[in-house]
Amino acid sequence: MAVKQLNTPLQFLKGVGEKRANLLQEELHLETFEDLLHYYPFRYVDRSKYYQIKELTASPIQMQIRGRFLSSETVGAGRKQRLTARFADSTGTVECVWFQGIKFLQDKIKPGKDYVLFGKPTLFGGKINFTHPEIELLDEYLKKSAAPFTPVYPLTEKIKKHKISARTIQNLSRQLLIDLKPQIKDHFNEEIRAKYNLMPLFDALKHVHFPEDMETLDKARFRLKFDELFFIQLYILRSKIKRNNAIRGIVFQKVGHFLNTFYKKHLPFELTNAQKKVIKEMRADMKTGLQMNRLLQGDVGSGKTMVALMIALIAADNGYQSALMAPTEILAQQHFKSLQEMLGDLNYNIALLTGSSKAKERRELHEKLRNGEIHLLIGTHALIEDEVKFLKLGLVIIDEQHRFGVAQRAKLWMKDKIHPHVLVMTATPIPRTLALTVHGDLDVSVIDELPPGRKPIETHHLYEDKRAQLYKFMRKQIAEGRQIYIVYPLIQESKKLDFQNLEEGHQRILKAFPPPEYNTVMVHGQMKPDEKEEKMQEFVQKKAQIMVATTVIEVGVNVPNASVMIIESAQRFGLSQLHQLRGRVGRGASQSYCILMSPYKITQNTKQRLGIMTQTNDGFIIAEEDMKLRGPGNIDGTQQSGDPYDFKIASLTRDQSILLLARRAAEELLKDDPNLEKHSTINSQLNKRHPKFINWRQIS
Ligand code: ADP
Ligand code: MG
Repeated sequence: MAVKQLNTPLQFLKGVGEKRANLLQEELHLETFEDLLHYYPFRYVDRSKYYQIKELTASPIQMQIRGRFLSSETVGAGRKQRLTARFADSTGTVECVWFQGIKFLQDKIKPGKDYVLFGKPTLFGGKINFTHPEIELLDEYLKKSAAPFTPVYPLTEKIKKHKISARTIQNLSRQLLIDLKPQIKDHFNEEIRAKYNLMPLFDALKHVHFPEDMETLDKARFRLKFDELFFIQLYILRSKIKRNNAIRGIVFQKVGHFLNTFYKKHLPFELTNAQKKVIKEMRADMKTGLQMNRLLQGDVGSGKTMVALMIALIAADNGYQSALMAPTEILAQQHFKSLQEMLGDLNYNIALLTGSSKAKERRELHEKLRNGEIHLLIGTHALIEDEVKFLKLGLVIIDEQHRFGVAQRAKLWMKDKIHPHVLVMTATPIPRTLALTVHGDLDVSVIDELPPGRKPIETHHLYEDKRAQLYKFMRKQIAEGRQIYIVYPLIQESKKLDFQNLEEGHQRILKAFPPPEYNTVMVHGQMKPDEKEEKMQEFVQKKAQIMVATTVIEVGVNVPNASVMIIESAQRFGLSQLHQLRGRVGRGASQSYCILMSPYKITQNTKQRLGIMTQTNDGFIIAEEDMKLRGPGNIDGTQQSGDPYDFKIASLTRDQSILLLARRAAEELLKDDPNLEKHSTINSQLNKRHPKFINWRQIS
């Protein structure tokens, strides 16, 4: 038999064979020795203690008892056949029942012998009962597993049906460790292991499958988590170094006419210190000769647009054009209008290009872009259409980054042969750990301060039976001259059901707030742009007091007089999205409110999520909590790209400190050895792992 290698197919592992190998591949996507070796338990059961039968209670925890079978009996026939048995220790007896593997168990159960029985005690007919407990002769159990911890592997029903249990996997792992011992070479040398307190790789693999005690297990898991996180960080940082070496950035050396004039004559307010700080960070980037790739995070209303405008003015001062890409047409239009107002008579030319721009307009616009007449082009996805060509594109600004797909961004980025500077702006704060992994090669600037004079928004969670109270509150607000948004969840605007919710909601409001005393408008994503614009304008011009809408208003709508945001079926939204919606109010001088409506019957988890909204207005806290409750894959901002990395053992929520350590380790290593010439084992491990990483480089 040939030497067993990491990449040997599983069918050649003792105890597997062709049939099981197929099953493992189909069900668990395990193909090679190495795959199975890295198929880690997702939890462990502490079997260090034997419970007494008299102390058993119905419990979600698996418990083990020690004793003998008094009797066993097969009842029923065919598919209804089951095996029941009575099991006893010195303190009492319990009933056991199995519906599968009956023949196998009949042979296994021998009266008079000592067994270990392990399972989840349940209460049935007033008595404690085990359904499908695992059983094993005490002698054999003690021989096999001196370890008090039993690993539990994630297995599918089909796998279990074919008699592959956690125990089977563990036994296979034992064989793997024997077969592969010579092949498992630690990619970290002793020096690095000592520095970061890492257990040798082989030991870590051994202990993760065969833990001896809690402390060693923790160390083993730490080592394997570190490995996962370290190589991602190394990959990201290395890509960044390579890119910086390969791509020359455009140098924006000076500040000139545009910025100076704007600053002196047009700036409508004093910049906040946070705005000044981030502008400074960006200016520093753009001077270096490197290409800027920066993520600007700033809560809703923190004034990101002004920052964007100011660096676009700097680009123009250096003879370059800029592009500003917004996620929706409404937002692009708003940007265009508000920038136009702010710029006043400054001879800085901005233009708007959207899906509804007419062919003739478009042609003219293309011409002006090609001859450099337009300094800043604002638009939606239309901006990345191929015929749009700039004379000298020096800066690309992407607003509300979470709405754009990675591919689209890449396309925009590649528009010119010289890569423009890229600024990605988001109001969805991304938890630090996620930022480091998903946007790890972006530099991050944070606006952590709102313009002065903003009143915090008051948020309440109401159950649907309090609707009368809600209407009373709305009438009072309207009487005081305020305007109100009511938002319905439309996960997919095409779904009929969602529409029904919106329509019904609209009808209900019309009944409770009848015209002509009240005026209500409805806006949703399937309306024609003109129609949508018309309705929006009615609201902006205060002709309507209530706007019933879908999440089309999530981003960017700016009506300072609107002071109430009511979110229907709030349980269906993610926290970050709720936070975005809430940000539509609180823009004017009066106290603003956000009301989250939900049915009475919601899960504890949902109640908790909505509770966070009522407790804080801080987008960063919300993002962290959202990630804790929903997991990193669901955070707005990464959704579009699916789960960023397929972690086997690490978790972005639970292992933040390991991530930071791994990041630091990767930084230190590259600082000393940027091409990994002195660390060939790490380099080859990186090359082996990185094809599995999604190529995030293109994002920026
Ligand atoms: P966001 O960061 O959500 O994109 P905007 O750029 O739309 O925020 O700014 C929100 C509002 O705050 C706008 O009306 C803008 O003119 C105003 N604003 C921005 N910066 C300041 C500032 N330094 N002082 C006062 N108002 C500001
Ligand atoms: Mg904005």
